Amino acid sequence: MDQGAGKFLLDKPLPVDLTAAALFMAEKRSLSLRVFSLAPSIALYKEWLEKGWEIRRSERPAVGKRLITDPKKRTLTKELTSLLEERLPERRILLLLNRVASSPLLYCPQCRRPLLCERDGTPLQQEEERVSCPQCQGSLPLPEGCPRCGTPLLSLRGKGIAALKHKLSSLFPDQRAEEYSRKSVGRGKREEEVLESFQRGEFPLLLGTDLAVRPFHLQNLSLIILFYPEFDLSSPDPAASERLFSLLTSLAWMKAESAPLVIKTDFPDLPLFSEFLADDFEGFFSRELELRKKMGYFPFRRFLTLQGEETPGGIRKLKALAEKIKPHEGDPWELLGPFLPSGKKGLFPRFTLVTTSPEALWKAIHERVLPSTPPGFRFTVDRA
Ligand SMILES: [Zn+2]
Ligand SMILES: [Zn+2]
Repeated sequence: MDQGAGKFLLDKPLPVDLTAAALFMAEKRSLSLRVFSLAPSIALYKEWLEKGWEIRRSERPAVGKRLITDPKKRTLTKELTSLLEERLPERRILLLLNRVASSPLLYCPQCRRPLLCERDGTPLQQEEERVSCPQCQGSLPLPEGCPRCGTPLLSLRGKGIAALKHKLSSLFPDQRAEEYSRKSVGRGKREEEVLESFQRGEFPLLLGTDLAVRPFHLQNLSLIILFYPEFDLSSPDPAASERLFSLLTSLAWMKAESAPLVIKTDFPDLPLFSEFLADDFEGFFSRELELRKKMGYFPFRRFLTLQGEETPGGIRKLKALAEKIKPHEGDPWELLGPFLPSGKKGLFPRFTLVTTSPEALWKAIHERVLPSTPPGFRFTVDRA
């Protein structure tokens, strides 16, 4: 950043928070600002446009990128297998699959909502060809698509990292694949060792299973395959799509000019993918903004999470509190849940509140919920 002649110049992509800080400073001093960014957040970009900032997206040749899909929904298609065979002698193949992929819930990757019970709003759970409600015990046949928009529903069953590893080792028994995630390697030395050893070509396949860990500094990759990025959209978090767009953009920009980026997806028709392939951030931005307006997502609405304890008593206490914040006529919020933990560690029963008016919701929480909060009960605010 160069501060001279009343001008900030950001000449390389900055982390979003740093960009926000630069914008804040520029605004305070009434300076002009040029922003270069790969894929800013939707809320930030909206703000920049409203302020009339000059926005230029950095221009750099991106690697070849394409989608691969399979009507039979196999993980490793023939096309992928032969691509792997072709690149294996060069080693340094990066495979990415978010390990979040194990949950009985069904999601609409377009509306970014789980399939909910019509009676009580509880997320339905898939059991083979049926779905059932853990709250009212209701059960119905697996619906074909999202009741709101008709998009085929996203199931997270059987697509985890274990299945991929198994397929890789049966196809390429002599090729070592190392897993790489915060959990599998821990912090510090071992993590570095795995990456360095991969970088030196001592084993050919690196399996990134935690997209929070983004090994963007790896070099001379011969192939990048991102499996089922739609899993990242299986969350009502409105930032999920911008995170995915930014991940895809960063991957395409990795120092790997010769390495194609292949996206294996069961949802080739998601607009996000065609926008990414066409390098059309503006298209992504305006469609996403429209969707958020329609669905009432951030920055048009805010989310708040009521989170309880992972005990039978905890769930009861949480439900009692949720009862108190159930919207009455005219209350500007929606109560979704309960989302019950499915045996996963670190997950707690929770409700999600969606509101157009965080102030009114906060006031109601103070008046209706806080006075009857049992000791030890926590609720957290998401994106206030
Ligand atoms: Zn129900
Ligand atoms: Zn939908």
